[in-house]
Amino acid sequence: MAGSGVFAEIKDGDGVFRYYCDGEWKASASGKSVPIINPTTRSTHFKVQACTQEEVNKIIESARPAQKLWAKTPLWKRAELLHRAAAILKEHKAPMAECLVKEIAKPAKDAVTEIPLGVVLAIPPFNYPVNLAVSKIAPALIAGNSIVLKPPTQGAVAALHMVHCFHLAGFPRGLISCVTGKGSEIGDFLTMHPGVSCISFTGGDTGIAISKKAGMVPLQMELGGKDACIILEDADLDLAAANVVKGGFSYSGQRCTAVKVVLVMESVADKLVEKVNAKVQKLTVGAPEDDCDITPVVTESSANFIEGLVMDAKQKEATFCQEYRREGNLIWPLLMDHVRPDMRIAWEEPFGPVLPVIRINSVEEGIHHCNASNFGLQGCVFTRDINKAILISDAMETGTVQINSAPARGPDHFPFQGLKDSGIGSQGITNSINMMTKIKSTVINLPTPSYTMG
Ligand code: NAP
Repeated sequence: MAGSGVFAEIKDGDGVFRYYCDGEWKASASGKSVPIINPTTRSTHFKVQACTQEEVNKIIESARPAQKLWAKTPLWKRAELLHRAAAILKEHKAPMAECLVKEIAKPAKDAVTEIPLGVVLAIPPFNYPVNLAVSKIAPALIAGNSIVLKPPTQGAVAALHMVHCFHLAGFPRGLISCVTGKGSEIGDFLTMHPGVSCISFTGGDTGIAISKKAGMVPLQMELGGKDACIILEDADLDLAAANVVKGGFSYSGQRCTAVKVVLVMESVADKLVEKVNAKVQKLTVGAPEDDCDITPVVTESSANFIEGLVMDAKQKEATFCQEYRREGNLIWPLLMDHVRPDMRIAWEEPFGPVLPVIRINSVEEGIHHCNASNFGLQGCVFTRDINKAILISDAMETGTVQINSAPARGPDHFPFQGLKDSGIGSQGITNSINMMTKIKSTVINLPTPSYTMG
């Protein structure tokens, strides 16, 4: 159970999860807590501390001396501690997976696969609160930095369990801290804090606002996307349909690299839509505990936002392949055909199980739509002609293009980057370590002609 067994000390007597500062689990002096709403039941499931600005100051103060000592710790010792934390994380993945089911309605099978140790640091989003935290923490530590983690509110308890695994591994006091509270309340104070020397953020438009406020600190930003799937006449339509459904509807479309718009050649559009529909009908809808394919989206406001996009498309006469259905945060999967560029769903990121299909008459039209987006995360193209695929990939203004497969993050050592409003910098173990390492050049100039050639 969450917060019991080796995790007992991370919860206080009132059942509120503590925050982590200077090697200790603490209750906030604010006396306030932030409720975490279970997306399925829509009632409070967990509570975390609402940390104060003074507590943020203390966390950052404790992180600075810890970092100075850590930077002098040999690399092999840093790696040894990380391996120990990885082993503890694997051993205790069950309570973390349980938190992901209750906090963010992640289907149980996907919740467990989020737990192996990955790479990197500081402000992760709700949809991967453990994986995208560890993928920031590990390279930061190996490069000799200390960490202040601000987990997403939905997903905070899973992240606190993960931090406790680092605590159990025996990292020095102050090296890793975790501050909880609403991003809207403590986020600006944290990101503009003079003691912060680098920000690694994954999330939505919040990242754009942070980049404008943060000042002269290195930024690593992984933001939203509108990943396009271009399907040509010669594509293997069964393969394309399978990838459209997997890419568009896994974890109810709440993935940065979900397929978010299908651009299909008119001549094969009817066949493709028929094949996609056949698969959409088979998706199971319900509770994450039952391992359903489609589970409630994370918050009521997300569900309302998605509904707004759906209603706009309906009013502008997109063809709905299924009847639109919603109960609370649960939205049934919906494919919308004959979507046009004047509809919001053609451009905006729904982050839910609704997928628009735009019929195109040329490859150029597809590339034009893709590049007219303010996002540039990933894209994909389905064709049997590899030469055409490479040309299209070159023309698409995105960080990655998948040929004959849905967009995906890939293994953590792969470079991963978004262009335009989809991000700044590149993740992947090597890139993250480089980004979190300060380069210092010392040039020794000998006065001439004071040395002689032997
Ligand atoms: P979000 O609303 O931008 O929140 C992301 C994180 O920022 C959360 O931890 C949030 O905390 C925090 N935050 C909120 N306001 C803040 C502020 N003023 N200063 C500092 N931090 C603040 O995003 P989300 O809804 O969690 O995640 C969905 C978005 O993430 C989508 O757009 C998706 O495409 C994107 N995403 C991108 C990638 C990628 O690799 N490119 C991967 C995954 C997700 P609270 O929860 O407390 O508000």
